[in-house]
Amino acid sequence: MHSVEPGSLQRLIRLVMDNDLCTSCGACAGTCPYLRVHGDRVVALDRCTRDTGHCIAACPRVPDARSLGELLPAATDVAPAYRARATDEAMRKRAQNGGVVSALLCWALSAKRINGALVAGGDAMRPVARVARSVEEILGAQGAKYTMAPLVALLHRLPDAGEIAVVALPCQATAIRRIATAVVPRPIRTPLIIGMHCAGALDGGALRQSVHGVARGRRVVRLDFVPSARDDQARYARGALRLEFASGDSAQLTPEQTDRISRAGCRPCADLSAEDADVSIGVDPSDPSHNLVQVRTRRGQELWADAVAADAIHAFPAAPETLADLRGAEQRKRSRARLAIGDGTPRLDDL
Ligand SMILES: Cc1cc2nc3c(=O)[nH]c(=O)nc-3n(C[C@H](O)[C@H](O)[C@H](O)COP(=O)(O)OP(=O)(O)OC[C@H]3O[C@@H](n4cnc5c(N)ncnc54)[C@H](O)[C@@H]3O)c2cc1C
Ligand code: SF4
Ligand code: SF4
Repeated sequence: MHSVEPGSLQRLIRLVMDNDLCTSCGACAGTCPYLRVHGDRVVALDRCTRDTGHCIAACPRVPDARSLGELLPAATDVAPAYRARATDEAMRKRAQNGGVVSALLCWALSAKRINGALVAGGDAMRPVARVARSVEEILGAQGAKYTMAPLVALLHRLPDAGEIAVVALPCQATAIRRIATAVVPRPIRTPLIIGMHCAGALDGGALRQSVHGVARGRRVVRLDFVPSARDDQARYARGALRLEFASGDSAQLTPEQTDRISRAGCRPCADLSAEDADVSIGVDPSDPSHNLVQVRTRRGQELWADAVAADAIHAFPAAPETLADLRGAEQRKRSRARLAIGDGTPRLDDL
């Protein structure tokens, strides 16, 4: 259990926001009148005079041993892992990869396992957090938005949070677990957490500015990080961000350009594969038309087994070399985070 200490918002601002460490997960906003979501940012409008509050207990950037990645388990070793894709072809067509995130949500909603899903709607350039209460709304939010939708803020306002699924980036999955176990005035019941793998998010304003330079008036309908050199048709460099326009043509931002517009708050993040999720989903690096899925909890296992048995998803055990690649990528992200933490990220004794 995390305890709430005096001067919560002041310390959140000093430790996290002023140090450019905020991930914009949204966990601190939603119940606090001083914290507001503006696009992909969470801002403090004023200083709160209360000595206690839930904001600092919820924040995944406020150090505890786990949030700084020091004790993250090598979860890949134990979670059953699958190569998978949605059975429905139309769903796959609109999906970022194999459509497994959406297939799982749609099946869970149709089978009345959830009342709705907290997703990132809007478009590729300006995501907006939404509660999807129908299959159509879930499908309308397909595709990855590589900037933050501070969707955890909405969770506080949902009376049926325990019956909701949240599509969460790793920092958001951690924030949700923290809210659900913290000593806070209004704790939430834990939703089903569908985590997404995440190497890092982009800054919304900087992305729009960079895209403006290459789009020349064309509307972006899809963004895609080239996941691996293996599928690269020599057209896009590894780490480049591919832009697809409504007109049907495409362009790219180079790895150097995307590096310059990445969020500062992502630097000390040690979690690649959403280790706090019930089910974690990323791209299969050997074939981006499929997902790589890790089933982490009993709740996740029950949902996964039933969705596969109902033929909503085609799944096969992940290949050992795919898992070895994932372990390598997880390790590299942890190492980068340790370097960033050594660079001045707050430590437990700063609190
Ligand atoms: C910032 C970011 C970084 C990523 N980095 C990696 C990576 O390094 N390696 C990797 O394997 N995969 C990464 N992914 C995940 C990958 O891009 C796909 O989203 C994932 O494989 C799911 O594909 P799908 O076809 O099942 O999704 P779809 O069926 O297309 O559904 C995608 C779902 O994700 C939701 N969503 C989209 N953007 C966001 C967002 N910003 N915040 C919350 N929910 C969102 C949508 O609302 C939708 O419900 C990243 C995703 C994001 C958003
Ligand atoms: S990381 Fe999340 S909880 Fe922490 S300050 Fe930013 S939005 Fe708030
Ligand atoms: S890299 Fe970490 S902090 Fe940044 S968006 Fe992804 S999970 Fe959140």
